[in-house]
Amino acid sequence: MDGRIEDVFAAQQARVAQRRVTQGLAARRAALDDLRRAILARQDDIVAALAADFGKHEVEVRLTEILPVLQEISHSRRHLRRWMRPRRVMPRLLMIGTSARVVPQARGVAMIIAPWNFPFQLAMGPLVSALAAGCAAIVKPSEMTPATSALVAEIVAQTFAPDLVSVVQGGADVATALLALPFDHIFFTGSPAVGRIVMAAAAQTLASVTLELGGKSPVIVGPDADVGRAAKWIAWGRFMNAGQTCVAPDHVFVHDSKRDALVRALQDRITAMYGSDPVASPALARIVDQRNLDRLTGLLQDAQSAGATLLGGGTGQAAAGKLAPVLVTGTTAEMTISGTEIFGPILPLIPYDDLDQVLARINAAPHPLALYVFGGPVLADRVMRTTTSGSVGVNLTVMPFIHAGLPFGGVGTSGMGAAHGHAGFKAFSHMRPVLRNRFLVMPLLFPPYTDRVRRLATWVQRLVT
Ligand code: NAD
Repeated sequence: MDGRIEDVFAAQQARVAQRRVTQGLAARRAALDDLRRAILARQDDIVAALAADFGKHEVEVRLTEILPVLQEISHSRRHLRRWMRPRRVMPRLLMIGTSARVVPQARGVAMIIAPWNFPFQLAMGPLVSALAAGCAAIVKPSEMTPATSALVAEIVAQTFAPDLVSVVQGGADVATALLALPFDHIFFTGSPAVGRIVMAAAAQTLASVTLELGGKSPVIVGPDADVGRAAKWIAWGRFMNAGQTCVAPDHVFVHDSKRDALVRALQDRITAMYGSDPVASPALARIVDQRNLDRLTGLLQDAQSAGATLLGGGTGQAAAGKLAPVLVTGTTAEMTISGTEIFGPILPLIPYDDLDQVLARINAAPHPLALYVFGGPVLADRVMRTTTSGSVGVNLTVMPFIHAGLPFGGVGTSGMGAAHGHAGFKAFSHMRPVLRNRFLVMPLLFPPYTDRVRRLATWVQRLVT
């Protein structure tokens, strides 16, 4: 990025203030096309950057970093004309003589703060929505994935004028400096702890916020679940990206009758996906840094010393910055692993026989980002009726995040507002109501309040309510 943060911000504000060509349909589409071309041209570099940052396999990079962004671009491009179109609102009785419309308008200058765990997708995906909405944006990628963040900066600098999109690299200090600027919208993806800091900062400037946060996403495997299918989806969702996925299954409540079968099926899946020595598998990503690896091995030691059992498939063995997938049984509510987002390839299995207790436990915890149910429609409906969560997946995991047509976001401590597709477009747009007067009769009710006006007011009230 050239220039100081304040200068870039001022340039973006000036551009937005002019509300000129950049915000029409053609300009927005052109920006999306430019981004698409740039990403297609740099695919190999993206694969290499993510391999450098945390040993992600090429297939995983394509599936979870590149594809979602390209899909977001094509989905937005296809629907943009409709999303941008003012929506006509029919006049209610009192409003006869007017015409009403809701006109989507770019919020202005947006800031996007991205986390390290999907460092390309979670920086570029929100940028697609910002561009579709006609915003200018400053993107701050994570400092923990230097290769990918540098590449994001390079792609942006080569593709966009800095007064449309700029990347600012750095850690908490840089983010703090950015947060002092009066952005029109802040789109933050990261931990609930930093989410609170971002929201507090936004309170000073009264920027609107979208907070995409994390938490512990539970899975329920019911008595009527297809265990083979459940194991396939749970193992993929949990161990992809070495478990460093916001919507990964965090722990599994499994019905007593399915417990042993699920453990066996999960062990088989781990071996099928990563072989008998998972840390040697190129399909298993690294843990992002030593601090997180120590945190994860600490969680396992704490659980084990308090009586939990680690089951193989994987072993929880750490080597070369990796942690082998591991299943944990016998956890209790007091263990650290039960109270903190695991964010690694560790999966506690908690047997149950009374679904009500499981539902009560889920409801007593902070609202999860995702909730997964394996079983028939009766079980799924009951779980959905009695809980809340950002999203729900039935007989699958992770996929609600990947569906371009579904809004994605958390609720309560797992987030606020929604991303993806039309929801993402709306996050960066102000839905501006416009009411035009043609022959509105309202002036008949203006003062002075004569008896005639009083009678008319009473009559109107009866008529419209
Ligand atoms: P994090 O909150 O530590 O960091 C996220 C971003 O915030 C980084 O760019 C970081 O530099 C910045 N940051 C750090 N301190 C800051 C401060 N004081 N003020 C402003 N910005 C600051 O999160 P992380 O460790 O990078 O990511 C992991 C977390 O993100 C997990 O909780 C995970 O569940 C969550 N997550 C959520 C989603 C989602 O879509 N809901 C997606 C991915 C990750």
